[in-house]
Amino acid sequence: MRALIIGRFQPFHLGHLKIIEDLSKKHDYIIIGIGSAQESHSVDNPFTAGERHLMIANSLESRNINNFYLVPIEDIYRNALWVAHVEAIAPPFNVVYSANPLTKRLFQERGYDVIIPEMYRRDIYSGREIRRRMIHGENWEELVSREVIKVIEEIDGISRIREIAKGDEYNDYQPRK
Ligand code: ATP
Ligand code: MG
Repeated sequence: MRALIIGRFQPFHLGHLKIIEDLSKKHDYIIIGIGSAQESHSVDNPFTAGERHLMIANSLESRNINNFYLVPIEDIYRNALWVAHVEAIAPPFNVVYSANPLTKRLFQERGYDVIIPEMYRRDIYSGREIRRRMIHGENWEELVSREVIKVIEEIDGISRIREIAKGDEYNDYQPRK
């Protein structure tokens, strides 16, 4: 059995790690789709598909999880064809894990079983919260693995996201009051 899970992983955090660790024990293989693969260098999507690939692979390998495939998935802006697009890129899969209602609906319409995964500490293990902390100089490091910190340091990711966030259109990344 191969299971598919798709996320943007901007960045890959300890909530993602926990769910993938659990799934890797339950299934022969986990296919990890890196969503919106074409996006990078924006406040919502600061990291490239390749940088996200490194974050995920290094984190999993350091925990001796090796039964995974990483597949970058670009947006096609046509929901009715999106599942076929994923099928054309990813190794075949039997079951899909997603908490996203649109993803769930699209895969179910194509006959897949979709399981809504349990969320771990969603108040803090959230990409948006981590990006907010990065921008405001708060402690984001506690929410990701050591391997992710290393990748972000290597690519100078914090100065990248702060510089991009300097425009005033990103008011929803405000410091916590
Ligand atoms: P963003 O805030 O940027 O949307 P995110 O934390 O929701 O980031 P995504 O890349 O959107 O991360 O996540 C993809 C999938 O990862 C989600 O649909 C969900 O299944 C899983 N996931 C995200 N956060 C957690 C968490 N805290 N615990 C378990 N699974 C999670
Ligand atoms: Mg999300």
